[in-house]
Amino acid sequence: MKFFNERQQALAKLAGRTVSPDDWQDWKWHVRKAVRTVDAFEKALGIRFCASEKAEYERTLETFPMSVTPYYLSLIDADDYRNDPVFMQSFPSLSELHIERHDMSDPLHEDEDSPVPGITHRYPDRVLFHVSNVCSMYCRHCTRKRKVGDADSIPTPDDLEQGLEYIRNTPQVRDVLLSGGDPLMLADELLDWILTRLREIEHVEIVRIGTRMPVVLPCRITDGLVRTLAKHHPVWLNTHFNHPREITASSRAALKKLADAGIPLGNQSVLLAGVNDCPKLIKRLNQKLVQNRVRPYYLYQCDMSEGLSHFRTPISKGIEIMESLRGHTTGFSIPTYVVDAPGGGGKIPVTPNYVVSWGVNKVVLRNYEGVITTYNEPDSYEASYCDRQCSSCNLQLKQEDAEERAIGIVKLLSDWDDTTSLTPRDNIRMERRDETP
Ligand SMILES: *Cc1c(COP(=O)(O)O)cnc(C)c1O
Repeated sequence: MKFFNERQQALAKLAGRTVSPDDWQDWKWHVRKAVRTVDAFEKALGIRFCASEKAEYERTLETFPMSVTPYYLSLIDADDYRNDPVFMQSFPSLSELHIERHDMSDPLHEDEDSPVPGITHRYPDRVLFHVSNVCSMYCRHCTRKRKVGDADSIPTPDDLEQGLEYIRNTPQVRDVLLSGGDPLMLADELLDWILTRLREIEHVEIVRIGTRMPVVLPCRITDGLVRTLAKHHPVWLNTHFNHPREITASSRAALKKLADAGIPLGNQSVLLAGVNDCPKLIKRLNQKLVQNRVRPYYLYQCDMSEGLSHFRTPISKGIEIMESLRGHTTGFSIPTYVVDAPGGGGKIPVTPNYVVSWGVNKVVLRNYEGVITTYNEPDSYEASYCDRQCSSCNLQLKQEDAEERAIGIVKLLSDWDDTTSLTPRDNIRMERRDETP
C-alpha cells in the first residue's frame, strides 16, 4: 500500500521536484531530503515564525542541529503545531540553550565507561556497541545531544574492528546492543557484515538493535533489511515510540514485518514534559504497542543532559503514571520505569510502594484498588546454605561458566562472601582509620 496525501505532496515539492509514491517509500530519499533549516521547516509545514523568533531558533540550531525526515514531519498537525508531540520532539525549543545548574553534557558517563572507541561497557555481561554516528531524525530529547550532528558518519569496517576485537577478547560479554546514532542508518550489507562477525564469537548469545526507524522512518524496514536481520537470530529489536500519534499505518506495517520475521520487539519511551507526561496517554500508547506485538520495555526518566531541562518532569510524575498502570491494564503492556543513574550507575527501577509492612510471619501488601492484604510466609521453608558449588547442589544447575564475582547488594546477601557492608570510597571515618598508625 502506498501512502500519499496532500502534506506529503507539499513536502515532496519542497524537495524541488515532483515526487512519486515510490520516492516516498524510499528511505534514502527521506534521509537526503531531511529538513535541516528553519526556512525549510516553515515551507514544509506552511507556517511562518516572526523574524525575531526565527533568529532565535536559528541560533539554537548552531548548538543543537536539526534533522527531520519528511515522513516524521508529515505527522505534525500544522494547525496546532505548538502543542504537537511530533513537533516538540523534532523542532527546537528556545529553552534548549538554558542550561540548568545540574545539567551535564554526558550525565551517564558513557565516554568514561568506554574501553575502546565505540564501546560502552557498564554492566558485567553486556555492552553498547555504537555502530553509527548518524540518525535520520534528531530527537530534541536525545540523551547524547552533545554528539548530535558533530560527526555524521557511517563507520568503516576498520573503525568497527576495534569494537569487535574488544568483544572477542571479553568473554563475559554475552549480549551486544547495537546502538548509535541509529544502527539502521547502515546499509544492509554493512549490518550483515557486523552481525556475521558478532555471530562468529561464541560467547555472544544475543544481539539487540536499538533504533527509532519504525517511528521516524518506517519505510527503512524493507523486506531486504528484515531478511538480513533474521539471518542472524536471536536478534532482538527495541524501538522508541513516545506518543500514540506516532503509531501510523506505515509504522504498523514496519512493526508487522519485523514481528513476522520472528524478531522480538520492545519499546523504550522517555517521559517528556508536554509530550507524554499523562497517565492516560502512556496507558494508551502501551496498549497500542502491544496490539502491534511490541512489548513495552522501559519508560525512562529524562536524563540531565544539557538542553533537556524543559523536557524533565519530577520523578513523582513517573511514579504516578506507574500507579495508573499496574492492575489497571494488561501486565505485559506495562514498562519498567527507570532512572538512568547520573554518573553511570546504570538503570534504577522506581515503582510505587506495594509492601505496606512486614512481620516475622507475614507481609502486608496493598493492591492497585487499595485493598490491603496479608501474605503468610511459609513455616516450612529451609534456606539452604550456598557455597556456589552448583554441581553438587540439589537444584541441578549444571554450571559450565566461570565463577562470577558477586556485586552490590547480592554480595551482602550471599553466603559465600564475607562482606557485611558496602562503604563509599571517600568515607571520612575509614580515611581516619587508615591514617591512625
Ligand atoms: C541500557 C544499557 C544497557 C542495557 O541495559 P538492559 O537493562 O540490559 O536493557 C547496556 N549498557 C548500557 C551502557 C546501557 O545504558
